[in-house]
Amino acid sequence: MRSFEDQLGKLGEAVRRRRGHAYLVEVSRDDEPRVVHALRRALLCTHPLGESCRACTGAAHPDWTEVELGSARSIGRAEVADFPTRALVPPLMAPVRVFAVRNADRMTPEAANLLLKLVEEPPDPVVVVLITDRVHDVLPTLRSRCRWVAVRDAAPAPLAPKLPDWTDPGWSETLGSVSEGLRERVRACKEDPATVRRLIDQWDAVVSAALDLEQNANREIVRRRLEFRVGRE
Ligand SMILES: [Zn+2]
Repeated sequence: MRSFEDQLGKLGEAVRRRRGHAYLVEVSRDDEPRVVHALRRALLCTHPLGESCRACTGAAHPDWTEVELGSARSIGRAEVADFPTRALVPPLMAPVRVFAVRNADRMTPEAANLLLKLVEEPPDPVVVVLITDRVHDVLPTLRSRCRWVAVRDAAPAPLAPKLPDWTDPGWSETLGSVSEGLRERVRACKEDPATVRRLIDQWDAVVSAALDLEQNANREIVRRRLEFRVGRE
């Protein structure tokens, strides 16, 4: 399987070569920001092949309109209601005007139907991007009108191979070498925030297990919980 970066590169290349009107991108929630970054670069950048113009990936861009779930339970019609009107306004800086919906599986049927109209008859140059980790929960009529792209992180659980033997009563003494291995991996993946977050989460799990064992918690329960959060060796 290609690396995540390669897949993002391919996606960007395909979008630049022949732009579609609507994309459905399947990606884990953790990796959404990287996909958004790659799409903004491919769709909005005025120098897509050379050094970035920087405006394309900045916090706000006049030609990129985005909604996401946030703390709400669903994305309703109100959140996307102005998309069709905004779509009639020509882009200000980029070659296209983009309407992106993150957590697209959480759109209500009303919201999805409104987007469906935009996808069926998009004014040129408009691109609709739906991003989700649950493509099958996107309204089928909407889904079928989008180019479907899956971007998957093929990296193995990064810390798992170096974990100590949990059944050894003295395993907490090996934490030093675990943390050393972890530091190396964090350094190696520092360009990849999602992996660094996962490493830190795994380390938290190891530390809290060590504390539980110090307090004589049930070794078997601690082991199972660690396997769940960190992965099996
Ligand atoms: Zn740019």
